[in-house]
Amino acid sequence: MATKLIYFFGKSKTDGSGDMKSLLGGKGANLAQMTKIGLPVPSGFTITTEVCVNYYKNGRKYPAELSSELEKAVKWLEKETGKKFGDVKNPLLVSVRSGARDSMPGMMDTILNLGLNDAATEGLAVATKNPRFAWDSYRRFIQMYGDVVMGIQKKNENDHEPFEEVMDGLKRDVKVKEDTDLTAEHLQELVKRYKKLIKEWTGKAFPNEPMKQLEGAVQAVFGSWMNERAILYRQKYRIPDEWGTAVNIQSMVFGNMGEDCATGVAFTRDPANGENVFYGEYLVNAQGEDVVAGVRTPLKISDMAKDKILGPAYKELVDVRKILERNFGDVQDFEFTIENKTLYMLQTRNGKRTALAYVKIAHDMVKEKLMTPEHAIKSGDPEALNQLLQPIFDIKAYDKAKKDGRLMAVGLPAGPGAASGAVVFTAGKAEELAAKGQNVVLARIETSPEDLRGMIAADGILTARGGVSSHAALVARQMGKVCVAGAGDIEIDYHKGVLKCKGVTLKEGDSISINGTTGEVFHGKIDTADSELKQVLVGKTLKPKDSQVFQYYDFMMKLADKYRTLGLRTNADQPDQVLNAVAFGAEGIGLCRTEHMFFEGDRIIAVRQMILAKSEDARKSALAKLLPYQQKDFEGIFRALDGLPACVRLLDPPLHEFLPQSDNKKGQEEVAKQLGTTVAEVAKMVNELHEFNPMLGFRGCRLGIIRPEITEMQARAIFQAAVTVLKEGIKVKPEVMVPLVGFKRELDLQVEIVHRVAAEVMKAAGKKFAYSVGTMIEVPRGAITADEIAESAEFFSFGTNDLTQTALGMSRDDSGSFLPAYQGLDIIKANPFASIDRGGVGQLMKIGVEKGRSTRSDLKIGICGEHGGDPNSVEFCHMIGLNYVSCSPFRVPIARLAAAQAALRHPANAPSAKVVKDTKGAKGATKSKTVSKR
Ligand code: PEP
Ligand code: MG
Repeated sequence: MATKLIYFFGKSKTDGSGDMKSLLGGKGANLAQMTKIGLPVPSGFTITTEVCVNYYKNGRKYPAELSSELEKAVKWLEKETGKKFGDVKNPLLVSVRSGARDSMPGMMDTILNLGLNDAATEGLAVATKNPRFAWDSYRRFIQMYGDVVMGIQKKNENDHEPFEEVMDGLKRDVKVKEDTDLTAEHLQELVKRYKKLIKEWTGKAFPNEPMKQLEGAVQAVFGSWMNERAILYRQKYRIPDEWGTAVNIQSMVFGNMGEDCATGVAFTRDPANGENVFYGEYLVNAQGEDVVAGVRTPLKISDMAKDKILGPAYKELVDVRKILERNFGDVQDFEFTIENKTLYMLQTRNGKRTALAYVKIAHDMVKEKLMTPEHAIKSGDPEALNQLLQPIFDIKAYDKAKKDGRLMAVGLPAGPGAASGAVVFTAGKAEELAAKGQNVVLARIETSPEDLRGMIAADGILTARGGVSSHAALVARQMGKVCVAGAGDIEIDYHKGVLKCKGVTLKEGDSISINGTTGEVFHGKIDTADSELKQVLVGKTLKPKDSQVFQYYDFMMKLADKYRTLGLRTNADQPDQVLNAVAFGAEGIGLCRTEHMFFEGDRIIAVRQMILAKSEDARKSALAKLLPYQQKDFEGIFRALDGLPACVRLLDPPLHEFLPQSDNKKGQEEVAKQLGTTVAEVAKMVNELHEFNPMLGFRGCRLGIIRPEITEMQARAIFQAAVTVLKEGIKVKPEVMVPLVGFKRELDLQVEIVHRVAAEVMKAAGKKFAYSVGTMIEVPRGAITADEIAESAEFFSFGTNDLTQTALGMSRDDSGSFLPAYQGLDIIKANPFASIDRGGVGQLMKIGVEKGRSTRSDLKIGICGEHGGDPNSVEFCHMIGLNYVSCSPFRVPIARLAAAQAALRHPANAPSAKVVKDTKGAKGATKSKTVSKR
């Protein structure tokens, strides 16, 4: 590697800056930036992410120059600090921390006090005149190094930490209760025992030489990039493996040298609810990891104002809070240490926040001109907006639970929302019960990264220890889980599998309810109710002006609309679904699956008559019965849309889906009775319609081609509904969509019917209306011959469910059995049915867009597969120039924000202005440019 491997930050020089996150990682870049703007940052240096990337590319080998560069860097740091590695008078000690481009809380490991050995510890004792502190620092270092670098860790989740056991043994031997009661001599003995433990476990001695320690630590940080937790985290948050992590080596400052020392973490605003308050916690006489690990419950940051010794440092922190927000343009989550009353900043990053905090903070900081509107859009996690739709406690059930005295404890409100379910004490059990469809609350004394899988599976997380920046709180906030942290009155006994609090004992599986907005913990079940957002937009039981949550959300959504260029539609087949989707921001229907309407009420009887009809006439008479039903459905939908476009797909699924199968004799008897035929006749018909692979069988346009009267009936229902609603003065924009087209001729045969019926309806009604006919592109041949198909199609909509199935040759219904393993083996990065396989399916879409528009430059193209509500796929749709995405009603807000983010990330890819945008016209007007040319 010829490029610079190491970047410095310190008084004498700072190489990096805040915008170099891809090279220096988030932590390294921000340390450089804080140094630049004059905040008190202990000096240090950053090994770039490129080194990590190369380390893995070259079979876990460092570039040859790293060793000498590292030595030079240490020399620089020695000069900068006036201390020396391993010195017996004034030793240089450093922290070694990982730092990826995006922060990965709790995923990577940190080592503090590196540089200590027996001699340097004596040196530290002299320099600080505090032997107890020196030996305590040494034992902490050995403990972290033994764990992170040498792999001495508990073997299963209910074991004790090996080093903690040794410490407990010593405490028993010397008869003290608290760690703080151990004297310098005790700690010296503890160091001996720790070293013995290391020798026993690894067969190797603890390394004495600071440079060797540093090399081992750097290697461990790079190694941790590929540990199971980190990989799982990256999969969940789509962080590419290729990014790698940087390593930050920073001179140590100490928060554990006495009562004028402290360490803490703080957020410039409340990350749980977004309130503009200084939010955080600290521990006096402690080291940074104590706060994050949640071992001691810390004090609130505001308490520091009243502290006689630390009060002045608090004043500085209040200034820092302002400086950080002004400089970084976002809420910051920072770590600090106070060493003998002097404040030091150890890191800062954009604070992870709940969706509620996201919308509030974005709203407030944009208005305060501290955050740019672009950053407000970019910094949101679209998927997390789901949290705003999460239930809260039903107010009556909640009041009753309080009246009944079921409130057991109050912890810190770490993740808003309400969760009620079976209490479990291990991650494994949480996964097991969740897999069975049970609601679970995972209760742990404190969580650690090993609990991640259980935290993902649980509805809510409860911890007995730890503060708002404990692992549980950080992770819950990011995942949008309901979480109560540090409910100190609760006792959890893993071995007995019980949770006790104020005389109540809950066994594993008993019901528990937690309120992550208030921190309350109740025993027993409490019913939940709709979120405020749903109450405003769906139930309409709450007025917008009475809901602040709605107002913040609405501000953000309107901001997103300013930036997005993609249109937004919804997949809906009922008027109430349409109304919900429109309330969430949909601008029309992208897919109305008409077959869903066939199951309503008793119309299935007519459907079956149609399927079992022996002659065309019999079939037509059955269809005639269905027509009024379908027409009414479409009228309802057109009214709900109030002028927005409705893309209605002709019947798609295989006909046998409407009949009771051979394993349902009772059902067949019933059908025989309803239709006045014999059971044998029904069974015979079912048999005849049986297909080995129905997904690739008699479905899609094939149905309408072989049974044109079905298409005719559906077209008539759509157009007659259009006329009826138009006559009411409501504008309609029907788009008729033909499914599963692979050949232009298939489409032509269907288009011809639709146009003929449209003309007949117009003539009979004496009224003209605008409509268009297009096709789904959902088989590879359709995409590849899109130029031919576009000659007959006025619009395309990618059916990416089928396109994924047919392009990958993977059944959309059966791939669940191997896809998780495929992900584990890194064959695929994500489930291709949830997120577009850009390299395969995505390329077919690109071909479809390019070829389609080569024939018709103003071809409107959308997507209506499930991918239309997936942020990553929405981005891809923007990149290839689609006009709109369509998704289920409740995912519309997610797609709305994702579309705005895509527009900001790829400004050059906005869709062509030639295509008419989805809008409502004047009532009753028919100005659409998509009037069919026959
Ligand atoms: C698709 O295939 O993507 C699609 C939207 O159609 P369906 O899911 O109904 O097959
Ligand atoms: Mg399909």
